[in-house]
Amino acid sequence: MLPTFDPRDTEAGSRILEDITSNAGHIQEQVLEEILTKNASTDYLKGFLNGYSDKELFKNKVPVVDYEDIKIYIDRIALDGEPSQILTNDSITELLISSGTSGGKQKWIPKTAEEGERRAFFFCLLATVQNRYLHGLNDGKVLFFVLISPDIHTPGGLVLRTTTASEIKNRKDRYPQVILCEDTNQSLYSQLLCGLVQRDAIASIGTFFASGLLRIIKFFEEHWQEMSSNIRTGQMSDWITDPKCKRAVSLILSKQMPDLADSIDLVCQEKSWEGIIKKIWPRIKYVQAIITGSMAQYIPALEFYTGRLPIVSRVYVSSEACFGINLKPLCSPYDVSYTFIPNMAYYEFIPIGNHQDPNCTNSKDARLKDHIVDLANVKIGQHYELLVTTCTGLYRYRMGDVLLVTGFHNITPQFKFVQRRNVVLSIDTDKTTEQDLQNAVTIAMHILEPLGFFLLDYSSYADTSSIPGHYVLFWELQLRSNDDFPVLDQVKMEKCCSLVEQSLDLQYKMLRNQSNTIGPLEVRVVKQGSFNVLMDFYVSQGTSLNQYKTPKNIKSEKAIEILDSRVVENFTAEKCLIKTRSLWSSRIFLHISSLVIYLVLQCRNVKVLHHCMDVFVFYYFSACL
Ligand code: AMP
Repeated sequence: MLPTFDPRDTEAGSRILEDITSNAGHIQEQVLEEILTKNASTDYLKGFLNGYSDKELFKNKVPVVDYEDIKIYIDRIALDGEPSQILTNDSITELLISSGTSGGKQKWIPKTAEEGERRAFFFCLLATVQNRYLHGLNDGKVLFFVLISPDIHTPGGLVLRTTTASEIKNRKDRYPQVILCEDTNQSLYSQLLCGLVQRDAIASIGTFFASGLLRIIKFFEEHWQEMSSNIRTGQMSDWITDPKCKRAVSLILSKQMPDLADSIDLVCQEKSWEGIIKKIWPRIKYVQAIITGSMAQYIPALEFYTGRLPIVSRVYVSSEACFGINLKPLCSPYDVSYTFIPNMAYYEFIPIGNHQDPNCTNSKDARLKDHIVDLANVKIGQHYELLVTTCTGLYRYRMGDVLLVTGFHNITPQFKFVQRRNVVLSIDTDKTTEQDLQNAVTIAMHILEPLGFFLLDYSSYADTSSIPGHYVLFWELQLRSNDDFPVLDQVKMEKCCSLVEQSLDLQYKMLRNQSNTIGPLEVRVVKQGSFNVLMDFYVSQGTSLNQYKTPKNIKSEKAIEILDSRVVENFTAEKCLIKTRSLWSSRIFLHISSLVIYLVLQCRNVKVLHHCMDVFVFYYFSACL
């Protein structure tokens, strides 16, 4: 049973939070027991547990699975209309579309009424944390951008929608009409317009992921003149035809407001858009958006546009379940950890010995289960991959997320989100993780930052169409000022490529330098707006804008084509930078060898050794030259 409380009652919420985080182990045992008791007779669990609901049996017999392993069960329910009892004894009410863009594929995740209640409880706890730490939030309005897409019906008769659409459509009465509009452009335009008209009342703006917020800023850049003109005339543009948007905006934009329009024009006409968010909404205190994991790359861009407002990365959630809340919402975006809420699902963790190689833990490996630990037994400083067992029919399901234990709140572990498990670039035996790439790109950008650039977005793929294969990085650069985009300095860009290479791991460098198994890394600079087109492509494939995460390693040929067709300049790693290093190592080797031989000669004075000395001296001077 979930505890209940009024989300406006911060004291009551805080007490519950303290209580559940002081009893995490016990609550987790209860959650597992409930799930097993309820679902032991499902087709899926019966196959492993023979109808028993014993917890130890569960840990011994039920396999660790990926989405691909259970897809067949979900397809039977979604496509063939078979009953939910294949997986769960609760009725599956909807299927949630997991964006999957970080991992490459879209997934359909079952949702039940009970899961809806768990999510509601989670967000009540979040409200408690926000009320407690984000002072002044309730003194104004929160402009939280939400976009929903139309429902799809599966042949089996279930509704397929995103987590956000599910939440909003199931509680329509709680949300403003404007976010019920299913046309992305009309909805976003109207939400921004409402935010502009009420510009002095806004205390915070936000969206789910940081990438979404940048998309909104770009949209604003393209539409601010039109919006300002609407405010001046008191009339909304004709292309906004959706009745929900028209109704919602007309309640706010009911008269001509030329002064407001003038002040918006003044801000937007400034040469640089640095701090534009703070200038447009002068009372704003916080920006809310997930900024951890792959979203960390957007920190510089968000700092630029927000004028360094605090960025609050609130939660770690997914279509499968809600996991953790950031209990220090005002901490630096680089220090965010999420405290797991023990009532949400049953959590297990696969330790990852060398987190550089997270794919080493194969689901089919029988020894895997001996290493799995539960929430109460994770260790600080250790990396883990998260497994989840839910009341919706997922059992020991690999989330594909790699987490690091950073501490505890009471006895409940706190995790830093590190990276997706399966995002790696690889040509040969090299394995470059999302995190490796992120670090390397950040270091390389130090060359371009003093020139006024920041990286708006990037992605990559391993190009094996030629031999040797090589890493390709797509970069969308942005100037801090609104000047015309200059021609990029070839030498500096080549240095960037080399610096990325030098920041990758030893295996990469060995394959690149010594055996030439990997060709020089290439940076393809794409024109402005390219990553928006990429986002549109994934959205057209069914990904929700709210959940969208730029894939850091692109597998889709169509997506590569989209970026490739927008390349303005490309650069490859300057070979000699790396060669210089190997030259230096050979020099050191020759220095030492010559010295050793010289000493031996001094001692023994042998003719053969004299000859050797000649040979070494020859190589020594050639290397030095
Ligand atoms: P979706 O099911 O489409 O909502 O995507 C869920 C995935 O988004 C998770 O498995 C994570 O990979 C990612 N994600 C969710 N919350 C966070 C977070 N706070 N930091 C980093 N990545 C996150």
